[in-house]
Parts: sequence; structure tokens; C-alpha cells
Amino acid sequence: EEAAEDEEKPTYSVATDNNYVPFEFIDQETDKLIGFDIDLINAIADEAGFDIEIEQMEFSGIVSAIPSGRFDIGIAGMTITEEREENIDFSQPYYDAGLILAVLDGNEEISSIDDVDGMTVATRVGSTSEDYLQENTDANVEAFPEITEAYRSVLTERTDAVLYDKPNVEYYAETEAGGELVTVGDLLQGEQYGIAFPKDSELRDEVDEAIDSLKESGKFDEIYTKWFGE
Ligand code: GLN
Repeated sequence: EEAAEDEEKPTYSVATDNNYVPFEFIDQETDKLIGFDIDLINAIADEAGFDIEIEQMEFSGIVSAIPSGRFDIGIAGMTITEEREENIDFSQPYYDAGLILAVLDGNEEISSIDDVDGMTVATRVGSTSEDYLQENTDANVEAFPEITEAYRSVLTERTDAVLYDKPNVEYYAETEAGGELVTVGDLLQGEQYGIAFPKDSELRDEVDEAIDSLKESGKFDEIYTKWFGE
């Protein structure tokens, strides 16, 4: 009976990033893709009764691949925006985030976004932070394909600051930057993450229901606490 059930289980392709702590990144010890989103999508698949095949790619590639239908699901700490909603259907929001500026410890010139005009600010290609900088500041925007390159550019003083999602900046600052990268100013723009689907995908409702169940059972909180603490 179990075998018959397995045979009927559909397999869906999932596009994700691998450079976005602690949502999806490569564990340096095991070389495996891990993170909050990876645990979440696996729990959703278990709950909804499907298998997944994960493919890793650059973040901006996911945003363009999902509308084409090349993948069934995209999960990558992707912010729900009106512009993306023109080509992508999102699940219910599953994580509250927002943008924060960070500089090298000891930088006395930049203490908020008001100080970045004329400075070089690093961020990631195709992100909401790149849009924010272009629309709201006169900074020289240097957008890298990988956000870790943007952080390194600040740490090595090739750029003056970095703008990115607060949970990612904070996790990187704590785990990788050894106190050298510090956030400054307020949260600039509240954002929410959603799981992405091609327009009119029937999977969306199934995934939303699975998220509801994981919230009711406490499994969602368990995964959240594992990555973000209480
Ligand atoms: N939340 C940001 C965005 O959607 C960045 C996500 C990421 O780098 N994986 O643009």
C-alpha cells in the first residue's frame, strides 16, 4: 500500500538561492544546502504530500525563472512586491523582514540612510534593496550577484556601506563578520517574504494550507526557533 502511495506522489521542482544566510546557504562543514527556507519547504512538502527537487541559482535568476514556469516553486527569502506580483503568485507571507544599512565598525561618516548620497553602497543584483537605493538615494549603487560579495566589499573598504534585508545582515554580522560589520539607522522598509509560483499555479493553495497546518501543529515555530531563536 505504501509503495502505491509513493508512486502517486508528484515531484515538484524548487528554485532556490544558496547565498542567503540563514534562509538558504551552504553549510561549510557538510557542503549541504541548509537554512530556514529549506526546512520550511521540506516540511511543506511532507505536509502536503509531494516530493521536491531543489535547484540552486543566483537570486535574480529565480525572480525571472518563476514566471516562465521553468520551476514549480521558488523559495529564497523573496519579498512580496507589487511589481513581482505582476508575474508571480505568492503564498501567504511567512516571514517579516525589512531593509537595514550596515557599515564597517568605526565608520563615523554614515549613521543613517541620509548620509549615503555620493557614497558607494553595495547590495545585490535584482533585490528590493537595489531598487530602494536607486529610487530613494543619490548613492553610487554597486550591485553584486552574491550578497556575501557585497558584505566583503564593505569589510575590505572597497565600498562605504551595504543595504540589505535585516535578518540576513544581522546573521552575517554575527556569524561571519566577527563584529566588524555594524547596522546603522532604522529599518527602512517593512517587507514580507512569500513562496513564489508561476501565475495561476494550483500549487499555491495547497502550500498555503500546508503552512496553516504547520503553524497549528507548532512545526513552523519549531523551525523558526531553530534558526532565529525565541
Ligand atoms: N528579500 C530580498 C528580495 O526579495 C532579497 C532576497 C535574497 O537575496 N535571497 O529582493
